[in-house]
Amino acid sequence: MKKIPFITKEQAEELKKQYPTPFHLYDEKAIRENARKVKEAFSWNKGFKEYFAVKATPNPTILQILKEEGCGTDCSSYTELLMSEAVGITGSDIMFSSNVTPGEDFVLARKLGATINLDDFTHIDFLEKVAGIPETISCRYNPGGLFQINNDIMDTPGEAKYGFTREQLTQGFKKLMEKGAKHFGIHAFLASNTVANEYYPKLARILFQTAVELKKETGADITFINLSGGVGIAYTPDKEPNDIMAIGAGVKEAFEEILVPAGMGDIAIFTEMGRFMLAPYGCLVTTVLHEKHTYKEYIGVDACAANLMRPAIYGAYHHITVLGKENAPCDHKYDVTGGLCENNDKFAIDRMLPKIDIGDILVIHDTGAHGFSMGYNYNGKLRSAEVLLKEDGTSQLIRRAETPKDYFATFDFMNIF
Ligand SMILES: *Cc1c(COP(=O)(O)O)cnc(C)c1O
Repeated sequence: MKKIPFITKEQAEELKKQYPTPFHLYDEKAIRENARKVKEAFSWNKGFKEYFAVKATPNPTILQILKEEGCGTDCSSYTELLMSEAVGITGSDIMFSSNVTPGEDFVLARKLGATINLDDFTHIDFLEKVAGIPETISCRYNPGGLFQINNDIMDTPGEAKYGFTREQLTQGFKKLMEKGAKHFGIHAFLASNTVANEYYPKLARILFQTAVELKKETGADITFINLSGGVGIAYTPDKEPNDIMAIGAGVKEAFEEILVPAGMGDIAIFTEMGRFMLAPYGCLVTTVLHEKHTYKEYIGVDACAANLMRPAIYGAYHHITVLGKENAPCDHKYDVTGGLCENNDKFAIDRMLPKIDIGDILVIHDTGAHGFSMGYNYNGKLRSAEVLLKEDGTSQLIRRAETPKDYFATFDFMNIF
């Protein structure tokens, strides 16, 4: 599918007057429409809830929008819990899916009434010691081995640090019941960025079957199954995007085949999507500063890997549009680079694009999730602003850009800056 930015050159030029580039821009209308579609896809399940993975786009305004669309939050750290609380998402509207969890994080999660999703069998004793065992609790399952769909290896759970083994789930449920837990959930995250409508249904089958077994083995009251994240998006134009309606229908089929006949038809389905909820509805807007002609043709922009590190760390593809040249022929081959003193600071390598001139504005697509949030301060680069394109076409600053003062803030005890 041809990738079209959600802003025009004229809009970008207007925005640039208020917010210097680079900045991350989010499309409120599209975020809301997608969230509604997710809800509709799972409307067959009475207890369905999407717990947005805060780490994907940790911004209170974004969380507020999703809250208005009926979402909760999936938190994995102390500060993510605080952000969720700040926008009024508390109690069972928070899923706390952490790993290698510090004691104070469990204490805060318990204080907020969040549903805790334990990553490990040994966390049962740890949680009891630091914060007590709640009545409702979830355990994360890792079946090990390879996760395959139609012989394609999607991911390697056996190499992943997360979750209980199958045997530990049984022992864990029994142990938690002895310690007073009454209601249970099961969670698993077996593959990341899956662009295949079969992922959730296949995962659901594994979890549903496991739930039936666990109920038989332990008598536990299983009230929800959490399919977690991992539903991907089409970063490249040649990929067919996931169809959330087909995904919801696939999970329903598994539900009716496995859970309903086992008398477990009132189980709630939860999801913890991050990427699918936000990635396509954000972009990084950046201006061309330099062009360089050496052994290759380079375009240097004012954003760098500190604003979006997926290309640098995973070699991830992010589509690029040169605004105002949407229909020009892609007859120039460029490396599009940022200014870090790191040769992996390249948004694109050998990318065919229209002829680019200094001052052109580029849109780097699909940065709405795991974009800004992975940012860092290497080379003293400052984090950018985040801007919301609202439904009425106006814009709102939802995070200001960092200033040198922010960068130096942790030296505030030294009085030299
Ligand atoms: C990262 C993460 C998610 C979200 O993953 P996406 O790929 O962004 O959907 C959900 N749950 C847990 C536990 C995670 O670590």
